[in-house]
Amino acid sequence: MKIGILGDIHGNLEALTAVVEVLQRENVDVWVQVGDIVGYGPEPSACIDLVRELGCVTCLGNHDAAVLGLLDTSYFNNFARAAIHWTAPQLRPSDYEFLNSLRHVEEREEFTVVHGSMHMPEQFGYVVSVVEALESFAHQRTRLCFVGHSHVPATYMRREESPRDIHVVPHSEAETSYRGFERVLMNVGSVGQPRDEDPRAAYGLVDTDIELASIRRVSYDIERVQAKIRAAGLPDVLANRLALGV
Ligand code: ZN
Repeated sequence: MKIGILGDIHGNLEALTAVVEVLQRENVDVWVQVGDIVGYGPEPSACIDLVRELGCVTCLGNHDAAVLGLLDTSYFNNFARAAIHWTAPQLRPSDYEFLNSLRHVEEREEFTVVHGSMHMPEQFGYVVSVVEALESFAHQRTRLCFVGHSHVPATYMRREESPRDIHVVPHSEAETSYRGFERVLMNVGSVGQPRDEDPRAAYGLVDTDIELASIRRVSYDIERVQAKIRAAGLPDVLANRLALGV
């Protein structure tokens, strides 16, 4: 089975379209989306449409929750908060219906999907080190788990015989064999706003038949989305950061 994993799309339709095009050529069997379809970017509804069209297994992100009024935006930085306030009135009733239907965790036979961490998923904690990976692994019941939230790709793996010994693959673009590992926690990075100083859109591809987990990157038309961000009246910094990958 081939699993294509998208995350932190953040209303960036240019990036999402580029990622979907390359993943469609891979003949993906299952599509996954790890949350934050909206926020920051200028085309939230179009991104929701594409995620729904693909039939992604989708969980709720913190920006999705904030737009729904389920999360206090005082914890957001000024630009994130401004983007939430811009996004909320743009969405159609059907978008709200869809976002409202999302849960914090989606568990399937072969994998689990959560935005931040399996440790208190509704708190949207980050997995950015072995410490948090261990906390999340404690609640992970499937072999594979896909997360996002930090916008920085990394894969954490654990063997059954040494559960405190976590193997980390931090590279922004990497193919990792998970043969022999009983737990895999994959942060797939961000489609719409990468923050690992690589401005290309990030996504995950997992082939369960050969036990290979890949983080991949694809270039897209950043200037075009920057123009849309500025035309929408969203904060300029949200356009500028895309070119830097921060
Ligand atoms: Zn995000």
